[in-house]
Amino acid sequence: MAYVINGDCISCGACEAECPVEAIRAGDELYIIDPDLCIDCGACVAVCPVAAPVPA
Ligand code: SF4
Ligand code: SF4
Repeated sequence: MAYVINGDCISCGACEAECPVEAIRAGDELYIIDPDLCIDCGACVAVCPVAAPVPA
């Protein structure tokens, strides 16, 4: 299972640097998690101001 970033994302970028496997990148509107890379660690959730990353 991977995390996904929902529509609450405000594109602050805080999560990108926290991901240990570099699974997060900026998309056209929201940040995006690559499900093939995500190891489900939850680090992005811990730094997100709006709790946008959620378990898929
Ligand atoms: Fe990266 Fe962990 Fe978030 Fe997955 S849950 S995107 S591995 S920080
Ligand atoms: Fe979006 Fe949260 Fe990541 Fe900021 S930390 S880019 S609001 S998912």
